[in-house]
Amino acid sequence: MVQKGPRPLVLCGPSGSGKSTLLKRLLKEFPDKFGFSVSHTTRGPRPGEKDGVHYHFTNKDEMTAAVQRGEFIETATFSGNMYGTSKQAVDDVRRTGKICVLDIEIEGVKQVKKTDLNPLLVFVMPPSIEELERRLRARNTEQEDALKKRLETARKEIQFGQEQGNFHIIILNDNLDKAYSELREFISTNVEDKEQGDTVEEAKEDK
Ligand code: ADP
Ligand code: 5GP
Repeated sequence: MVQKGPRPLVLCGPSGSGKSTLLKRLLKEFPDKFGFSVSHTTRGPRPGEKDGVHYHFTNKDEMTAAVQRGEFIETATFSGNMYGTSKQAVDDVRRTGKICVLDIEIEGVKQVKKTDLNPLLVFVMPPSIEELERRLRARNTEQEDALKKRLETARKEIQFGQEQGNFHIIILNDNLDKAYSELREFISTNVEDKEQGDTVEEAKEDK
């Protein structure tokens, strides 16, 4: 596994808190700077999700076998499905020299913290459970039972997110523009691209 290079960035937060939306914006603004770690999952693809881009879509038997072969950095079961970051997924990004960005839930965060990845940890906080539910319903990607499971999990995730020392920053996503500015600001002051010798902010100014 490639170990050198800039610190990876982890985005964590309840389902519907806005992680994908913020990441999409970051990857669009800085396509040469950040690369997404494509996770494996046993859940089915949503409309528009592409295999190998949003996730590596797999099944329980294949994923369990790959985990047993030691191919994963971390794995978790979320809302009845397996999710995990393969060593390959992180290596693929690191080989490009980009900053690796992971979108993972809290059990994955706990495991990643025990590795030598040493990532910057961002928790994306929804304004309230009620607003989270509104956003999840409006996204319209989950069946009712899956949506309920995600909301139940959200309560314990919010608690974990708020505990001292679990994350480097908590970003309240009450307003998307404000939340994105905070993310950008956090990254530009904390992520240093050692190969380029400059920060995100400086790299942007160079363009
Ligand atoms: P996650 O990746 O954390 O599950 P998403 O990025 O898919 O969450 O966001 C969930 C839904 O909420 C999406 O439909 C998204 O467009 C919407 N959303 C994200 N941020 C905001 C915001 N600040 N205000 C209103 N809606 C938002
Ligand atoms: P979704 O099904 O909405 O795409 O993702 C559900 C949850 O799984 C989200 O909290 C997301 O961060 C998390 N997740 C996605 N990929 C991974 C992964 O590789 N590992 C872990 N631990 N969680 C993941």
